[in-house]
Amino acid sequence: MTAPRSPTAFLAEEVRELVAADLDWKLRVLGGPSEPSCTIDGRKVLMLCSNNYLGLSTHPRLKAAAIEAVRTHGAGSGSVRSIAGTMDLHVELERRLARFKEADASLVYQTGFAANAGLIPQLAGEGDLIVSDELNHGSIIDGVRLARAERAVYHHADPDDLARVLKEAERHTPGYRRILVITDGVFSMDGDIAPLDRIAPLAAEHGAMLYVDDAHGEGVLGRGGRGIVSHFRLDRDAVQVEMGTFSKAFGVVGGHVSGSAELVRFAYNKSRTWLLSGSHPPAVAAACTAAIDVLEQEPQHVERLWTLTRRFQEAMRGHGFDLGTSATPIVPVLVGESSTAKRLSQRLFELGVFALPIVFPMVARDKARIRTIMNAALTDEQLAFAIDAFAKAGRELGLI
Ligand code: PMP
Repeated sequence: MTAPRSPTAFLAEEVRELVAADLDWKLRVLGGPSEPSCTIDGRKVLMLCSNNYLGLSTHPRLKAAAIEAVRTHGAGSGSVRSIAGTMDLHVELERRLARFKEADASLVYQTGFAANAGLIPQLAGEGDLIVSDELNHGSIIDGVRLARAERAVYHHADPDDLARVLKEAERHTPGYRRILVITDGVFSMDGDIAPLDRIAPLAAEHGAMLYVDDAHGEGVLGRGGRGIVSHFRLDRDAVQVEMGTFSKAFGVVGGHVSGSAELVRFAYNKSRTWLLSGSHPPAVAAACTAAIDVLEQEPQHVERLWTLTRRFQEAMRGHGFDLGTSATPIVPVLVGESSTAKRLSQRLFELGVFALPIVFPMVARDKARIRTIMNAALTDEQLAFAIDAFAKAGRELGLI
């Protein structure tokens, strides 16, 4: 009798396949804080790919708030929010977030992923339809997969195609109970902005709910970084579910949802990720509230982010780089083949700039890129250094 195959043999086999296809993640280790001048794998480089848009992860007010919360409330929260893990710090954060977002109420989840995976399946179930942009984030895709609703996808950022899908949905028999339209606000691979000014009226016309994932719009777009709804000056009621994260421009961690008081009450009674998973440590909640203080009181960070974004895009386009449809601080540098993107990233690292390649299957095979993300904490000299490094590496590789 031959020995039975090990039940875990597939682990090594599948990793080997990924390595052979050069699709495995090689983790790069930060030897200190995430700031423009940082240490990666023991080497001093310029960070050009973190989501810490405003540099708040090392802001003194956030650090002080976190330390103070450990002193007053301890290291952990002791429970899930629904049982014994709701502290005054969590409630205060939600009150402040709702005010910042100009919404009736807000709810904080452990992460943005947990918000999408927990709430979407509750908003649309059997007999309902979810209509989703084809380039929506993976956490939305997983949330949609967990839903019992039917699904339809519309062409990326294309309101005409969305209109087609919604018209078809109207003819469906039996009629759908509810329709939920979901889109990212800013798309994380291309840095383009969803045309919410056209999507919102369409959703309203068809009586559909509108859910926007503003993970990359908060702290970036709109008045004082209030996000995409503010950017398009939409009526608050036009977007019924505004979802976001504290892990990007806010510089900490945690997901959130804002909207009506009924939405929030529904969300915390129904989202399994919220009900069944431990709440944030006090330091996290306090640091997130401090991030809102900073956004409200120090508008210079958002202004600086946009100054640098415009300068970087202009200089890079001037050198002949293809930045695709970027209209935000997410600035992809499109190079075509995966191997070219990897070589460019490697050369940039040698020159002292850390920017990762994004390749198939994360983007189409011929759309490999280096995704750079602007950061308000970059000095003028650091930005000039990054542009020079790109120009040098780009010339060496025959890209410009
Ligand atoms: N939505 C979008 C568009 C994102 O880019 C991300 C983070 N990559 C998330 C949701 C998940 O947010 P979090 O990091 O808080 O889980």
